[in-house]
Amino acid sequence: MTRVWRVEAGAATDVGQVRRLNEDGFFAGRRVFLVADGMGGHAAGDVASSLTLDVLSALDDELVTREGIRNAISRANEAVLAYAAAHPDTRGMGTTVAGVAMVADPPGHWVIFHVGDSRVYSLEGSELTQLTIDHSEVAELVGAGVITPEEAATHPARNVITRAVGEWPPPDADMVLIPSRPGRRLMICSDGLTGEIEDEEIAAFLASPRPADEAATALVRAAVDHGGRDNVTVVVIDEAPGADEQPVVHTTVPRHQSGGR
Ligand code: CA
Repeated sequence: MTRVWRVEAGAATDVGQVRRLNEDGFFAGRRVFLVADGMGGHAAGDVASSLTLDVLSALDDELVTREGIRNAISRANEAVLAYAAAHPDTRGMGTTVAGVAMVADPPGHWVIFHVGDSRVYSLEGSELTQLTIDHSEVAELVGAGVITPEEAATHPARNVITRAVGEWPPPDADMVLIPSRPGRRLMICSDGLTGEIEDEEIAAFLASPRPADEAATALVRAAVDHGGRDNVTVVVIDEAPGADEQPVVHTTVPRHQSGGR
């Protein structure tokens, strides 16, 4: 039986109230959805996130394999390192990337992948589940039982990530395979969202019945209104029930948007 992919996506990003530049970026295509959160001085974070999104967004042209995603992350890593080598003032730049992609094998599955502390969540009914574990010092301390999740939220090292695109040796992406499930909502975000808004509030925004693009916009606005101390980016992906025989993907956002330069 042909698996039906009916997907509607929406996305939003905002520089926030404190930062001068938006170094976040996103991509919302037909099969691949991404958030990247760049870091580095002299606007280099924006370069790192843009380069990474450029490489990974090419995966949207056909159903991907997990191997294809790993190779693309490796190419993005090389692209960021090569740019930094050619432009010494950008040396040390890097970016997170978190994504959701339809895979060719097994059929009817998504692969969830990430490097860094951008996250992917799923909402089924009113239940919000974080599908990624941050590559960050505080997440490791929480995992080891040294600090509680509550202590992590205000810990001085809360912004220190342990893996990034743009480092050597190249980062290992975590990947999780999940079956498609109509009615489920997936959300990708930068830490500018989760640093401002508690999970309960995120769940409430995502559970309210509104289209993906409005949900993304509302979440970003809530984080900015709460303080907006960092750039904020959200991509919302709905797996809609559908009876089409061919894959149908509706995307209600520009395919690609990267922060201000
Ligand atoms: Ca950030």
